[in-house]
Amino acid sequence: MVKFLDLHKQYKGIKTEIDQAIQTVISESSFIGGPHVASFEKSFSSYQNCSFCIGVGNGTDALEIAIEALDLEPGGEIIVPANSFIASAEAVTRAGYRVVFCDCNPNDYTISIEDLKKRISSSTVAIIAVHLYGHPCDMDLILEISKEHGLRVIEDCAQAHGAEYKGQKVGAIADIGTFSFYPGKNLGAYGDAGAIVTNDKDLARSCRMIANHGREEKYSHQLEGRNSRLDGLQAAVLNVKLKYLDKWTEKRLLIADFYLEHLGNNGEIYSPVRRKWAKQVYHLFVIRHSNRELLLRKLRDSNIGYGIHYPIALPKLKAYRYLNQHEENGFAWRSDNQLVSLPIGEHMDIGDAMKVIEALGT
Ligand SMILES: *Cc1c(COP(=O)(O)O)cnc(C)c1O
Repeated sequence: MVKFLDLHKQYKGIKTEIDQAIQTVISESSFIGGPHVASFEKSFSSYQNCSFCIGVGNGTDALEIAIEALDLEPGGEIIVPANSFIASAEAVTRAGYRVVFCDCNPNDYTISIEDLKKRISSSTVAIIAVHLYGHPCDMDLILEISKEHGLRVIEDCAQAHGAEYKGQKVGAIADIGTFSFYPGKNLGAYGDAGAIVTNDKDLARSCRMIANHGREEKYSHQLEGRNSRLDGLQAAVLNVKLKYLDKWTEKRLLIADFYLEHLGNNGEIYSPVRRKWAKQVYHLFVIRHSNRELLLRKLRDSNIGYGIHYPIALPKLKAYRYLNQHEENGFAWRSDNQLVSLPIGEHMDIGDAMKVIEALGT
């Protein structure tokens, strides 16, 4: 048996530190704000190599707050990849903008630059670059296009903790970046949590205000904000886990390289491509097969956990039917029934990866 995700095993490996950290927060009653949140924000901005980090309630809020802080032309269009988790699009609508879906690359699954150019109109105000599955988008090209058209760029890094584009950590390459620490992410809390990163002081200040009732001091509210804060318990857990992130990422890379080596030449299975400038952190290892049911049956028969990310391309969801953005020939639109996520994570060793390869019969 190979599990898709094993958070219990991970906890057992760091139990003493985690239990201690949680106990400390409770003893100090530092539940909201306080030293653990401040120290995590400091450690994470230093890890991500950027100037500012603002802890928030979750990755979806992080996106929504980041968009709001950019103060874009009201009602404008924001371009979002058609293959992503719904949060990437939800945040756009919630913040008062219109979603325009864009196609993805068939090799690395990030936003297609060619299609992106076609989606830009006079109403476009921003682009959401999702570093999907842990693979960075081609940021130089995205920034070039954004500069040409006067657009802002938000990096959705929910799946890309520690990923690098041409040697630079994702998140603060563009205007602003957002992270999720949902438990199953590469860096996961023990509940919902998220963060915003940026090198822009004013944007950082706006985000912090919006996330904390529009204030900087206790009862002096400068605008109407909301309540979306990283809490002390989650911050303490994240402080412990951040120290292990690079080691865990190395493990993911080891498994990924093993998969790539053994799946590489099979004509039926399309393996993901890692671009030469990418440090891909493999939140997910997604392959394609024209007869997915056959593949899933093999995995089930061998007790191998798997996932599908995502089973229905965003524009095809009932939630987005009103946008009427159907593209018969779009890669993201037609490939959602071929995707399979193989198990990958620090809970696995090469023996487990071997079992997966054997199960696939390659
Ligand atoms: C998980 C995820 C989010 C949302 O994060 P939450 O913390 O669950 O709100 C946003 N975008 C992408 C690409 C994600 O994978």
